[in-house]
Amino acid sequence: MALKISSKIVDYSVVKADEPAQTVEPTEAEIQLEEMHEKLKRPEFLEGSTYKIKTPTSEHAIYVTINDVILNHGSDHEIRRPFEIFINSKNMEHYQWISALTLIISAVFRKGGDCTFLVEELRSVFDPKGGYMKRGGRWMPSLVAEIGDVLEQHLKRIGMMVDEMDEHQRAYLEQKRAEFVAIKPQGQAAADCDDSTAAYPPGAQMCGKCHTQAAVQMDGCMTCLNCGDSKCG
Ligand SMILES: [Zn+2]
Repeated sequence: MALKISSKIVDYSVVKADEPAQTVEPTEAEIQLEEMHEKLKRPEFLEGSTYKIKTPTSEHAIYVTINDVILNHGSDHEIRRPFEIFINSKNMEHYQWISALTLIISAVFRKGGDCTFLVEELRSVFDPKGGYMKRGGRWMPSLVAEIGDVLEQHLKRIGMMVDEMDEHQRAYLEQKRAEFVAIKPQGQAAADCDDSTAAYPPGAQMCGKCHTQAAVQMDGCMTCLNCGDSKCG
């Protein structure tokens, strides 16, 4: 494009061949932050995590893979968002609805916005054939609910959800659990372990809040050693 100079030229300098052209750093407001939206093209490479679900109702495990996309890579605004979900199993019994579920969950991920509501939606699905008990005494009302559980784990890992219990509450429950185990005869307190998913003391009752067999009588109150729910009386 020709540019007409109408005023007098008072100074000039010649750009040297090895000198980079001057660039103006964009200001904060000018940086277009990448966000999750439907038209975001799937990158060639995505990082993800695979979770294994083993239910007592099937001899084959189910593998749930959630792939994440990194937006605003390398900047202060870098965020990790789930992009797609795959569910695989040798067991073809649930193939039809599992395919549908993965397509719909992936679509919700790609829409952007808050997808954490999916956790509770999935968790509230009850299998009419009855649920099953997980290792460690946790009640699972359905396979769908367990997929919700996996999603929650993943969203916590990538920082989209926070643990409801803070460090102090967790430490308090650990202490209570240790106390409970200490006052019980040795034989009954066999399953004590640091891992929070490990079995709770034998004789523990089902907690109505978190559906874990972890509620024990302590100081006159039924206290859940998993979620901390406590009922006195
Ligand atoms: Zn509980």
